[in-house]
Amino acid sequence: MGKLIFHITIAVLVYWIVKNHPPKQKDTESFPESIENMVNCTHCGIYLPKNEAISGHNNQYFCCNEHRNLHMKSLP
Ligand SMILES: [Zn+2]
Repeated sequence: MGKLIFHITIAVLVYWIVKNHPPKQKDTESFPESIENMVNCTHCGIYLPKNEAISGHNNQYFCCNEHRNLHMKSLP
């Protein structure tokens, strides 16, 4: 009989814990731009999100078309 009470106590305890502390929902909050997605302009060095950067040759990124053109002109 004692065992049954013990099991009921455990069940109530577990129920109480679950009720009061629902399992943490998966952190859906994500940073819009993580550090890994940041690139810097090859011309001026400013950091900007990769998806906003203009990509050039050899994995180079630029903040704007103007800087891309300027960098291209400066190349030998
Ligand atoms: Zn730039």
